[in-house]
Amino acid sequence: ASAPRPIRATLFPGDGIGPEIAESVKQVFNAAEVPIEWEEHFVGNKVDPRTESFLTWESLESVRRNGVGLKGPMATPIGKGHRSLNLTLRKELGLYANVRPCYSLPGYKTRYDDVNLVTIRENTEGEYSGLEHQVVRGVVESVKIITRQASSRVAEYAFHYAKTNGRQRVSVVHKANIMRKTDGLFLKCCREVAKKYPDITYEEVVIDNCCMMLVKNPTLFDVLVMPNLYGDIISDLCAGLIGGLGLTPSCNIGEGGIALAEAVHGSAPDIAGKNLANPTALLLSGVAMLRHLKLTDKADRIHDAILNTIAEGKHRTVDLGGTSTTTDFTKAVCDHL
Ligand code: NAD
Repeated sequence: ASAPRPIRATLFPGDGIGPEIAESVKQVFNAAEVPIEWEEHFVGNKVDPRTESFLTWESLESVRRNGVGLKGPMATPIGKGHRSLNLTLRKELGLYANVRPCYSLPGYKTRYDDVNLVTIRENTEGEYSGLEHQVVRGVVESVKIITRQASSRVAEYAFHYAKTNGRQRVSVVHKANIMRKTDGLFLKCCREVAKKYPDITYEEVVIDNCCMMLVKNPTLFDVLVMPNLYGDIISDLCAGLIGGLGLTPSCNIGEGGIALAEAVHGSAPDIAGKNLANPTALLLSGVAMLRHLKLTDKADRIHDAILNTIAEGKHRTVDLGGTSTTTDFTKAVCDHL
């Protein structure tokens, strides 16, 4: 029989360490014979008037057409007259939920052994509306927008995710005791959605208490859903529980089922071009993309090879206390496949 047609996926290598860790993903996917054909798109060096950003229209069209993609970190160039790269992607592709699984890696010791939780962050509004202004001298105002539409959509996604991934509990993180109207509406929307999922335990946790519980006993949590800013902070806190930014993947879910996976970390300019970056976070983001495509066997194989390489301890990158380069680690993962 002839081989099935490869699936097309968009790849943004990104900036800083991006190209080095994207190369690692390409090598590991090749070694695992993943049936994916990458459409590579680079951030341009001039503003595309159609996107008002350094991201080209063609690159956004590529993600829309393929429905899936993998993104390296992007550093927005400083200057006027253009939009942030990440904001452009979020707005243009309607990436409304950011999903960040976080679990202890066997064989890599941290203070916690059995973290296994997922944060789901509302990705389009909240404190990130970008509406800030000065009222009078010495007084500034920032507008936090919460809408029923975006809140219900991310709540729906969180419960759907819990149900389809065999998770038992959804915790909504909020500060509705102070932000009565905004977080109040977010909570209300979550409550409404929860009623449709009687098999899933629903709970509401105030953010300050949530932070305390997470560092005291992270096993108390399963799926957490929250407005934008809380999601930004809580998911980095969770990355810290399991060993840092070199390890944590994420996936952005967008309109029409688009999935754009990316590492949680940034472009790491301090180590860029030095062959020192840990490609694990982007590799695991690639695994999330494969799961989205239902290429479960390939996803499992690559996932296990990464975890076995780290657990074996012979090839670890500098951020995990080892001495391996990005290329050494990548080769070790390929050898484990
Ligand atoms: P960063 O995540 O790039 O780096 C923070 C620290 O973690 C650095 O010490 C870095 O060396 C280390 N680190 C990060 N990823 C690593 C990896 N894979 N392996 C080993 N060490 C790693 O955060 P920053 O320095 O605050 O931001 C740098 C740039 O990245 C900024 O321009 C920022 O805007 C951008 N950024 C982009 C994204 C994104 O594209 N999603 C996210 C965050 C930051």
